[in-house]
Amino acid sequence: MNKLLLCLLVITNFYITQAQKVSDYTIAVHFFPEDAQMWGYPVANKSFMKGQAKVEFSALDDEVLTFYLHGELKIDSITSNHTTLEYNSEKIFYDIDYSNVGLKTTITSHAAITDHTLTVYYSGFMNPSRARSLSDYMRINKAEGVFLRGFYYSLWFPVFQKSDTADDDYEVNFKQIQVKLPKAYHAAVTGKLLGETIEDDIYTAIWQPGKIKLSDIQCTAKPFEILSRDNIFVYYTDDRQSGENIIDFTQKLKQLFYSNFRNVQNAAALYIIEMPEYGNISSQNVIGISSDLYKGFNTDLFSQLTIAHELVHPYVTIPIAKDNPFSALVVEGFPSYFHLYGLTKISNHTKDFDLKRYMQRVEKSYLAKKETGKDRRGNKLPPEKPILEITFDEIGLYKDVFILSDRANLFLYHLWREMGEAQYDQFLKALFQFDSIDYDKFAGLVIQYLPNYGDNLHLWLNTTDYPDSLRVK
Ligand SMILES: [Zn+2]
Repeated sequence: MNKLLLCLLVITNFYITQAQKVSDYTIAVHFFPEDAQMWGYPVANKSFMKGQAKVEFSALDDEVLTFYLHGELKIDSITSNHTTLEYNSEKIFYDIDYSNVGLKTTITSHAAITDHTLTVYYSGFMNPSRARSLSDYMRINKAEGVFLRGFYYSLWFPVFQKSDTADDDYEVNFKQIQVKLPKAYHAAVTGKLLGETIEDDIYTAIWQPGKIKLSDIQCTAKPFEILSRDNIFVYYTDDRQSGENIIDFTQKLKQLFYSNFRNVQNAAALYIIEMPEYGNISSQNVIGISSDLYKGFNTDLFSQLTIAHELVHPYVTIPIAKDNPFSALVVEGFPSYFHLYGLTKISNHTKDFDLKRYMQRVEKSYLAKKETGKDRRGNKLPPEKPILEITFDEIGLYKDVFILSDRANLFLYHLWREMGEAQYDQFLKALFQFDSIDYDKFAGLVIQYLPNYGDNLHLWLNTTDYPDSLRVK
């Protein structure tokens, strides 16, 4: 191969692998599930949206900017600093949109982007599609409402990420998402609801998701009824009693967390949304429960665990710096176990939730992951490493996947078994009074309750060993 060709290949390859990462989004979308005729679109008037996304990059190289949207949408214009930018759009196969079709847009007048910021104006339809799977219920539909998930599902705002690099689900600061709808609707996005107003028969909700993964942004809207108590909101269709049951359950957990762990006032709001079939999705403080499970909530462990997990975070935290080796354990390891423990306590160790059986399953999957380096679906896992070697920046990589969701749980469960419940509860109460944490301080507290546990503690936290003595018996 001649040198020039090789060089060209290297350069092309560089452009392909260098995805341009967005630092901030400010999005305004207007959904017209009732009437789209006013926009003169040729298709039926049952599904429509119009969007505007201001996109900021931390830096822009001289590379070509390409972004993707759901395939039924089209670009109306793209501007940067009052200049209209040139672009080309084409429909492509794009397997991280629920319809498998994406609108690929390439900005050709890149030099005009002077302040790292551009605004994309777009509009179009989002019809249901069964191209991928039954759980792809995304749509903007007059009869049903607006059901949109972020990255991997329905690209309802421009995403600067090719489909074959889809695992790069990075965090972006979503400064604001404004949603407009006909007045009977309510919309739930993610994060903080800054306000809802109705003016000229148009409903407007402003949400502030903050720094969050692309896949954690969702938008659900319907003429929902809303029930709320104690900062817990239930958006439901017509079954008020099930909503009351969910709030009762959530309040009970909140009280338990408050008295058993750190006694903080949890001011963060939790939104629980009745979703269509297959709608069991949660992104941070917005929890979707599919309609059948919503009605059978009291016996649905999965929905209960999801709520418990999102709720537990502020009660099991310790102030911690990013470079502290305990940061991953504290930020996602503790919450991934203590919601289980909380559920065990409020169900009074009844068969409703059997922690031991649950932990046996966790152990089994942990051992399989250790052995194969892959998860159940065959996806490659991040490298195995000791709990205290997972850095703050790697939390997203490990949480709900490996180590933080299994080894950390097995460790905290082992302490419970070794101490016995009464002692363990005292230990936790003391732990969550900590205003800082390091190895000696943490070990000191454990040793107060389990004087001979020093070697085990070292094994759990500083190694990847899993000897027989640590197993769930
Ligand atoms: Zn979490």
